[in-house]
Parts: sequence; C-alpha cells; structure tokens
Amino acid sequence: MNTGGYAGKTAWIDLTHKEVEITTTDSELMKLYMGGTGFGVKLLYDHIKPGTDPLGPENLLIFAAGPLTGSDSPSSSRMAVTARSPLTGAVGMATSGGHFPSEMKYAGFDIIVIKGAAKEPTYLLLDKGRVSFRSAKKLWGMNTFDCQEFIKEDLPGNGYRIACIGQAGEKISLLASIINERRAAGRKGLGAVMGAKKLKAVVVRGDRKVAIAEPERFQTALVELLRRYKAHPTLYSSFSKHGTSALVDGTSELGIFPTHNYSATGLYDYAEDTGYETQDQDIVRRNPCRCCPAACSQVRISQEGDYPGVLTEGPEFETAWAFGGNTGVSDVSAIYLADRLCDEYGLDTISVGSVIGFAMELYERGIITSKETDGLELNFGNHQAQIELIHKIAFRKEFGDILADGVVKASERIGRGSESYAMHVKGLELPAYDVRGAKTHGVNYSTAFTGGDHNRGYAFQEIFGIPVPISYDRFSIDGAAELCMWNQIMEMALCDCPMICAFMISEGLLRDEEQGNTQELTERRIGTVSELVSAATGLAFTPAELILLGERVNTLARCFNLREGFTRADDYLPERLTVEPIPGGPSKGALTSLEEQDTMLDRYYAAFGYDHGGVPTKERLKKLSLDFVTEDLQKAGLNPR
Ligand code: SF4
Repeated sequence: MNTGGYAGKTAWIDLTHKEVEITTTDSELMKLYMGGTGFGVKLLYDHIKPGTDPLGPENLLIFAAGPLTGSDSPSSSRMAVTARSPLTGAVGMATSGGHFPSEMKYAGFDIIVIKGAAKEPTYLLLDKGRVSFRSAKKLWGMNTFDCQEFIKEDLPGNGYRIACIGQAGEKISLLASIINERRAAGRKGLGAVMGAKKLKAVVVRGDRKVAIAEPERFQTALVELLRRYKAHPTLYSSFSKHGTSALVDGTSELGIFPTHNYSATGLYDYAEDTGYETQDQDIVRRNPCRCCPAACSQVRISQEGDYPGVLTEGPEFETAWAFGGNTGVSDVSAIYLADRLCDEYGLDTISVGSVIGFAMELYERGIITSKETDGLELNFGNHQAQIELIHKIAFRKEFGDILADGVVKASERIGRGSESYAMHVKGLELPAYDVRGAKTHGVNYSTAFTGGDHNRGYAFQEIFGIPVPISYDRFSIDGAAELCMWNQIMEMALCDCPMICAFMISEGLLRDEEQGNTQELTERRIGTVSELVSAATGLAFTPAELILLGERVNTLARCFNLREGFTRADDYLPERLTVEPIPGGPSKGALTSLEEQDTMLDRYYAAFGYDHGGVPTKERLKKLSLDFVTEDLQKAGLNPR
C-alpha cells in the first residue's frame, strides 16, 4: 500500500542565521499527532524551553497543515498556526482556511517551523520545494491587503498564496493576527510573534498533488461524508445562506448573546439590526475556502447606515458581536467597517471588540474619563469612537497603546478596580456566548488550553439543542464537565488535527438528525472521518485511535501550560460570571457560582485523568504515550501521581 495525504517534508527555518533545513516529516509524529494542531503542539512542546520569551527569537512559529489539506476532502484547506502566545503565555494556536494551507502542501511542505529573528524586515518564499529569504523593507508599513497584492505583482509568474501581518503585527500589538487572503489566524497574538521576528510574510507556491494512498476507499468515504452533509436539514438551507451571522439571532433567542461587555445580557436586542436578515441584504457574492461545498463565507457591501459602501468579507458571528452587541453598536455598516479595518491592520476582531467594550464600561462607570481617552467619549454605542480606537490600537497611538495588549495588561496599567471588568480566561478575551446560560461552554472557556476560546470544544448541544451524544440541560451542571471533555476531544480528533473546518463538523456531521441509538450514530460519525483519513494516508486511524489522539493532544497542551506555571487557579471564569446573574431575557437569573465551577472542574479533571490540581496522572500519561512528560512536570515541581 502507498502512503499518502502528507507532502512528506518539514521546513525548519532560522531567521537569525538565514539557514534552512528540510527534513522528512516524522512518521511517528504522523501516527500519534496526525497533523495541524497535533503537529504544532508536539513540536512546540519538544523544541522550546520552559520560560521562553514569546516575543524572543527562541519562540517558534509553526504553520502545520493536515493530511487532508489540499486533497478533494471538502472543507479541509486548513492549517494550524502555533507558538507560545505573548497574550496568554500558554499554547497559542489558531486555525485558518482559504487557499494558503493547500498551496503549502502543493509547495511540498506539511509543516513550516520558523525560529530566530531577522535583522531587517524579511519575507519567506517557499516555491516548489525551495526556500528563500527576501527583503520586506518595501512591505513594512503596508496593510495586509496591499502587502499581498504587492508580493503577487513583484514575483514572477502567478499562483502565490500569502500569509502576512499588517501594521498591528509590526507594532507588536498582542492582539495582532496573521492574515492569508481574507482569512485570519486570529487570537492569541500570533501576529505579534511574527512581527517580533521581523517576518512580514510567508509566501507559498507549488505544483505537486496530494497523493492518496487508497483512492477507491477515499472516494467512498468522501461520498459518504458529502451524503451526510447533503442530508443535513440546515447545513445548506441556512448555514450556507446566512453564514454564521444567524447565530446573532440564535444566541439572542436563548438569552446568551452578551451585551455591553457582559454587563447587560438580555436587556437589549441587537438581532433585528445586526442579525442575519439585515446582513443578508448586503451579500454580493461568496468567497469560500478551497473545496468547500457549504461556502459560508460571504462578501458584503453596506447599503445604508453611517458607512455605506463598505466592502468586507464577513463579518463572522463573533465579529458581529464584538463590534455590535458587545460595544452597544447597532449600525451594521459600522460593524462592517470595524471588521474590514481589523483585517487590513491584521487585528483579532474578538479581542479588539472585547477590549473596546471593556474600555467603554470603564468610561461609563467613571473609572476612566475623556482625559485618558484623548477626548474620546467612550459611551456604549459610540461607533465613531470604536472606529477611532481601532486605528489607535493598530498603531499603538495614545489610549490605543494601552488597549493594544488586551484586557489584562490594560487593566494592570489602568488599575482602580478595572480588572473586575476584564472579561478573559488565562488572558484571552472571552468570545460571544454568555456561558452563565450555557454551562458546558463555560467549562470549555475555563479549561481550553488556549484560554477563553469558543473553538477548542464548541458546545453545539447548548446552542442548537442537539442531543449528541446525550440530551443536556444548558442550565444544569450535571453532565457539563463530561460533555465538555467529549467536545474538546472530538474537536481535536475530527477538526483540528485532520484539519476539517470545525463548522462542517459541528454544523454538519455531528448534528445531523439521523434517528437511532445515539452511541451507534456517534460511532458512525467518527467512523466517517476515520475512514477518510485512513484512506488518504494509508495509516490506520481507527475511531478508537482518533479519540485517543484527541485526548493526547489536549493533554499535552495542558502539560505545556503546566510547565509554564499555569495552575488550577487559571481554570476559572472571570468573577463577574460567578456573582452577577444574567440581568434580563430568556436566561435571566443564570450564573455559574464558584461552588458550581469547583464541582465541574473536579469532574472535568477526573474525566481526563488529572488530579485535583489539574496534573495528569502517570497512568493516564502512559495510556496516551506521553510518558516523556512525567520528568518535565517533576522538574517543574509538579509530581504526577
Ligand atoms: S464552512 Fe466556511 S470557513 Fe469552513 S471551510 Fe467552508 S467557507 Fe471556509
């Protein structure tokens, strides 16, 4: 049997010494970690020392595709970008789609590992298996759109795909993202890592195909996956049509759409002005990631409002929340402009909207005044001030400099009790679900190895009421911890390692409405991905191995964080969510008390085989082939039982 799926090569690039080593992608790495996030977490764990400065030359920046990336597998043109996060100090990982990830495979690489720091602005060209260093002096200062256009015009021929930073990454804002095409590896400050390395862009171009080990078996699995997508009651009729914007309406109906920096959930209705019906009127075309039948990604142009004629690709639900309900803005054209500016500057929309909402609440409470905000009146709903702040954050100007490093550092600089209004876990700003009324998602926010992240174990059961694998009451803590574990493992095993878009798995595969025994159905769904990856690679990834792999990567990432000094105390939600009930709407009165969090955390740790402090037991580490971690944890003063 042939092996397939993988491009077969890993590029190790040292920017300090301008050296390149190209190695064969490790076969054990493939089998135990599969790809994408699995590759990123394992290489980060192995190759950076504890305490490495996230903005120093020793931090790694890792681009890793999956075994399905670049193949005909739908919605698989995705990659994971991993580094130690300068925003959180924990594992920093974000996924991105578009075309760049596939092109990276066609260029011959599964993984690009970048270390060191260039002396002068540089970009990397990985062209048909060869790697070269090129000056980015002319690109420094450009936004991400202009940068991509300039490189395409400057290089001979065509077919280049580019991942780059904008001015925010150059200024080392800890909210900076990496943009490829119009897609973002947002969150966790990965753009700042790139900026600190003086790396403006990574450019890939290739001419190789992704080989498939067992083409007939692959085709059969592909047809089955597409059949499942097609049979889904809402994947094409709703998700494709509206994209994620329909979640503004859905979460509002549930009363878990946070407004005004989580202070007014349920008191205001933003669904009518910023939900899907309003946004649908502005759709001009779709621009899907490569080989995606759902094509959720729409290009919109504002028709009305204070900013007519703004073209943006999006906004995603989280962005519509961050610059809408969270900051009290109901003019959808202002949200489009904020979204576009963040893409141009290379800024993470969730964290930027969150830090602006935080500043607005401080202003309204009188903790800060217009003297500190350079005259800006930061009342909720002031969209002009919001736009102004985005410019200032990108260039670290005036008050923007304080906000450019996220809510934790901003609250440290401002003081005066402002930390009570900083909505984050582990330093990562919270996204758009008020988890006081969605307990499983709350466990995910608090325990995700990347910090307050909706993606590591998306609790679709709570948002859509889908009983997979079990029925669940979103206000109850019973079963929440175990369900969160299941979601985190599934997301890793089915999305973030094979690199299938999480939307397609959580929207399509896992919540199809086939009737029958849920256990059997769940196994069948996992089996669909297991077949696809096994046929592509020629390696046997059985459903049981996939589950083990998902647990392995989550646990190794936790061990990385433990080695960096994270403890149980870092696995809690912000205090506000434990003492202030949701003030209005369908989830009125809901909160997650400290006692409830303690109980859920104990259960979550027990399910994952961790002790009371969140440290994995030796037995569990052995089961996951992570024995090598034991000694490291001992050196860090932790003693796995
Ligand atoms: S569902 Fe949307 S984000 Fe996911 S692959 Fe398709 S177009 Fe890209």
